[in-house]
Amino acid sequence: MPSANTDMSLPLPKPDQVYVTVSALDGGHLTLPEHLFVTDADPNRRVTVPSLSFLIRHPSRGSEPSTRLLFDLGMKRNPEEFPPLMQTHIRNRQPTILYPDVGDSLRAGGLDPAEIEMVILSHVHWDHVGTPPDFSKAQFLVGAGTLHLLRHGAGPHYPAEIFIPDLLPEKRTQEFPPANTPTADPELGEVIPECVHATQRSSHTWQPLGPFASAIDLFADGSVYVIDSPGHMIGHINLLARVSETNWVYLGGDCCHDSRILNKIKDIALYDDERGGKRSVHVHTAEARETLRRVQKLVDGINQTATESGSNERVEVVIAHDGEWREKNRSRFFPGSL
Ligand SMILES: [Zn+2]
Repeated sequence: MPSANTDMSLPLPKPDQVYVTVSALDGGHLTLPEHLFVTDADPNRRVTVPSLSFLIRHPSRGSEPSTRLLFDLGMKRNPEEFPPLMQTHIRNRQPTILYPDVGDSLRAGGLDPAEIEMVILSHVHWDHVGTPPDFSKAQFLVGAGTLHLLRHGAGPHYPAEIFIPDLLPEKRTQEFPPANTPTADPELGEVIPECVHATQRSSHTWQPLGPFASAIDLFADGSVYVIDSPGHMIGHINLLARVSETNWVYLGGDCCHDSRILNKIKDIALYDDERGGKRSVHVHTAEARETLRRVQKLVDGINQTATESGSNERVEVVIAHDGEWREKNRSRFFPGSL
């Protein structure tokens, strides 16, 4: 049985608790120079990593229909759809592998991409946005500030020229509201500009959850939480899914790019920002660290409680670019599950 509830712990299952099924999906691969991502790396080492996507199936309940939700869409099948400046960046991330993409991976498991009801993007970096028109009936949900970012860019590292402004279908896209912890970056100005029509703002509300300051109970039944996880990119969000009475899955997106950072073996790399300072792969490194600290607290808290009380509650963290996890967990790719 899960342990008794304490301040930092996650809510206990209700008597009629709903659980979801999480399946990993291959969404292509890209190649990362390791020294940009982790400390003490070989400056010449380049690693080809997956850009994972996840299918979350929420069961029907009473009159409520079931929902098939995707978290992230991996690599774009036709990278030439990106603007020229983005294509220049993508040339530095070769080799890339574009097949199977998320649509292929769904079809291989017996699901038509047009049957997906909801798509949530952790953020809109090029290697997570996939091919949105494949999901022709889905409602898209993104973190606050994302639509402004797509139209206007943000600061010198993220000029508007690298984004596709109409990447997401306007009538089927909403932003989550800004979380309770809005942040301002001295370089970027206001991080979450008000550039969203009222109809494009979802009506969800943020609440604290365990170690996290802000979470949205997506289906209002405690089965899937959207977690505000600032730092990597404007609007960066994670998902926490309840897959059984004792097990949770935390989908960490790009909260870090290497599980050794999560496991405190390595740190976030800092490198020359070509403007006389240091930067990291995160738009706001201090916030990214704080987000990581909270994820670590979640994992440590549950493990510690498990050791102390003999509970078998577990949380598994999966980040988008973890090639080792992919190799070890092939049976958990759709139609398999976590
Ligand atoms: Zn990213």
